[in-house]
Amino acid sequence: MRATLPIALMALMAGTILPATALEGPAPARPGEAATTPAAAAKPRVVIVATGGTIAGAGADAANSATYQAAKVPVDKLIAAVPAIAQVAEVRGEQAFQIASESFTNAQLIQLAKQVSALVKRDDVDGVVITHGTDTVEETAYFLDLVVKTDKPIVMVASMRPSTAISADGALNLLDAVVVAGAKDARAKGVLLTMNDEIQAGRDTTKRVNIKPSAFFSQWGPLGMVVEGKTYWFRAPVKRHGTTSEFDIDGIDSLPEVAIVYGSGNMHPEAYTSAVAGGAKAIIHAGTGNGSVAGYLVDTLKDIRAKGVQVIRSSRVGDGFVLRNAEQPDDKYDWVVAHDLNPQKAKILAAVALTKTQDTKDLQRIFWEY
Ligand code: ASP
Repeated sequence: MRATLPIALMALMAGTILPATALEGPAPARPGEAATTPAAAAKPRVVIVATGGTIAGAGADAANSATYQAAKVPVDKLIAAVPAIAQVAEVRGEQAFQIASESFTNAQLIQLAKQVSALVKRDDVDGVVITHGTDTVEETAYFLDLVVKTDKPIVMVASMRPSTAISADGALNLLDAVVVAGAKDARAKGVLLTMNDEIQAGRDTTKRVNIKPSAFFSQWGPLGMVVEGKTYWFRAPVKRHGTTSEFDIDGIDSLPEVAIVYGSGNMHPEAYTSAVAGGAKAIIHAGTGNGSVAGYLVDTLKDIRAKGVQVIRSSRVGDGFVLRNAEQPDDKYDWVVAHDLNPQKAKILAAVALTKTQDTKDLQRIFWEY
């Protein structure tokens, strides 16, 4: 039998009411602390900005966990499907886009960042949740982390299963995201991603698995967890973000083109030269190992740099970080290393940094600091 969307949403509703103990209100006061009555504790005001993705996806049948259409369910229905949200925050939804995240371009990044920047400036908004596809949520999270000047929590959320699937993960992820967005202890921790009970740093997290709810990973570990409506923190970010960032979306209306070239054996220079011919102002070299460059490609990359295009060495490995002047003489060639940023995150930082500087030394400073 085919599950219609309303039936599936009702199933979600049934599955997402938090146990009463999690929602009874603030924790009992410690000795010497004034007790807060539940009535006195105003709920945080959280805006959910929806952009599409699998969390808003719908399949033909509840058994379809991987075959479905992303970006179908509007934000108000997503919120209505999780009644427990109303117990933890005052929420309202805004539909920014309704797209799968692989279709994000710089135009969407900029529009979304301006929308979020305007929201966090409002006195009646305590935090923002952004529903997003998993494919590029790591890029959007890092972009917002760099350019939205606020200490208020901005929490990305996504899901690996569509809203219509058995054991859909979106409802709990969304509830957890609202909890984090409304939590005072989530302030000034940069843009976060809440999935699979974990609170990940938007800067560090990356999609590692394309088929399981435990899809996101950071080599430095999650910052914390959300369990039964409560946040638990274990570490905090040290890189510049939000109010400590030198970048501000209010002054950014376009981003320069940055291309990623994936490293492998037996490469051809055209992968780089065609990216430059296409308008790239920086190339992220997703090199093997420590961002290595094949001997037969060194002259091509030196030529590209001589033409004014930045060469930024990242790695296809995924973990670790690229060391400057180790595998390649970066000082001599005037190249930059991407530090621990994977190629897609390096692409975001390069684009943002190039709105401010063309100087290689300054660019390298930015890659160390962010
Ligand atoms: N392709 C989908 C998207 O990124 C995948 C997902 O959301 O999980 O929008």
